Amino acid sequence: MNLFKEIEQKDHEQVIFCSDKRSNLRAIIAIHNTTLGPALGGARMWTYTSDPEALSDALRLSRGMTYKAAVSGLNLGGGKAVIIGDPNKDKTEKLFRTYGRFIEGLAGRYITAEDVGTSVEDMEWVRMETKYVTGLDRALGGGGDPSPVTAFGVYHGMKAAMKELTGNDSLQGKKIAVQGSGHVASSLCDHLATEGAKIFITDIYEKKAASVSERTKATYVLPEKIYDVDADIFCPCALGAVLNDDTIPRLKVKIIAGGANNQLADEGKHGQMLIERGIIYAPDYAINAGGLISVANELEGHTHERAMKQAEGIYDTITKIFAIAKRENIPTYEASNRLAEERISSIGHIRTLYAGKSEFDGQLTRVSHA
Ligand code: NAD
Repeated sequence: MNLFKEIEQKDHEQVIFCSDKRSNLRAIIAIHNTTLGPALGGARMWTYTSDPEALSDALRLSRGMTYKAAVSGLNLGGGKAVIIGDPNKDKTEKLFRTYGRFIEGLAGRYITAEDVGTSVEDMEWVRMETKYVTGLDRALGGGGDPSPVTAFGVYHGMKAAMKELTGNDSLQGKKIAVQGSGHVASSLCDHLATEGAKIFITDIYEKKAASVSERTKATYVLPEKIYDVDADIFCPCALGAVLNDDTIPRLKVKIIAGGANNQLADEGKHGQMLIERGIIYAPDYAINAGGLISVANELEGHTHERAMKQAEGIYDTITKIFAIAKRENIPTYEASNRLAEERISSIGHIRTLYAGKSEFDGQLTRVSHA
C-alpha cells in the first residue's frame, strides 16, 4: 500500500496511528477536513483483516463525515476513528481510556463518539481521559440515544421529497414501505402514523415489526417482499447497499427517503438507474443527519428542543438539493456533494480573513432554517 498516495487521494488533512502494547490498542484516526470546525465522527471497532483495510475504512468514513456536517449547515469537519479488535471480546476499560488519551492529545482537532462496534458505555471510559467526546448518556449531560432526532429529520426530509413530487408535503394517506423496525424506523413510524400515512413494515425479527404495527397499525411484510410493495415511498432504515441491480427494477415507488447509511450500492450506477426510473432519491447522508445534529448539539449543552428544531431544517436541506439537481441536471447525491463543497469553499474563504487563532471559537450549530 502506498500510504501517502492513499491519504492524498481523498485530500485528508491528517491521519494518526495510535498504538499501545499495554492496552492492546491499535487505532487509526483520520481527519479529513477541518475548514468548518473540529472533525467529528464516531469510533468504529471492527475485526479488520488487515491494516490497509482499517485505514481505507477510516479514510472513506471520515470523508463522508465532512460532507454530512457541511451539507447540514454545522460548523464541524469530518473525522473518523477505527479501533482494530473484536467488539465482542477485546473491549476493556484500559483500551478505551488509552484511546481517550490519544484523543486528548489532538487537543480538540478531532471529537469522537460511538459507532458500529462501540457504545455509549464505552464512551464513558473515553470521557475519563478527554472532554473531546460526544454522544454520551443523558445522566452525564449528553443527549442520549440520537435515533429520535434522526427519525424526526428523516420525517421532514420525506415531506420535502413529497413536496417535490406533488407540490404538497402532506403524507396523509400516502403508502410508505419501511425497511427495518429498529430505533430510527420505530420512532419515524410514530410521526408517519400521526400524520395519517399507511405504513408497511418489515424486519428480520418479526417481533420488532409487530411492536411497531401494534402502535401504528402498520401492515407487516416479509423482509424480501418490502421492495415489491405498491407504495408511494420506500424508506430504508436497516442496511446499506439496498438500492442495487436486483432491487431497483422491483420498486414501484416514486420516492426513496430513509435513514440507512450508504443506500446506493454503487453511487454512479444506481443513482443513474433511479433517475431513469423516475424515482426521487433523498440522499442518505443529508436526510439522516439528525444523529450528527444531536451529538453536535451536545457539544454546546444539549437540549432536546434545540436538536429537534435543527433536525426540522433537513426539510430545507433536501429542498435545496433537489433544486440544485434540477438546475444542474445531475443526480441528487451529486447535488448534495456539490452543496457541501460549495459551503466548505465559501466559509473556508471567509476564514482566511484575519486568519490565525481567534479568541472566539464560534457557534457550532444554529436553529434557524432560512
Ligand atoms: P437498529 O439496529 O436499531 O435497527 C435496524 C433494524 O434493521 C434492526 O431491527 C434489524 O433487525 C433490521 N434489519 C436488519 N437486516 C434487515 C433486513 N434485511 N430486512 C429488514 N430488516 C432488517 O439501527 P438504527 O439505529 O435504527 O439505524 C438504522 C439505520 O440508520 C442504519 O443503517 C444506521 O447506520 C442508520 N443511521 C442511524 C442513525 C441513528 O441515529 N440511530 C443515524 C444515522 C444513520
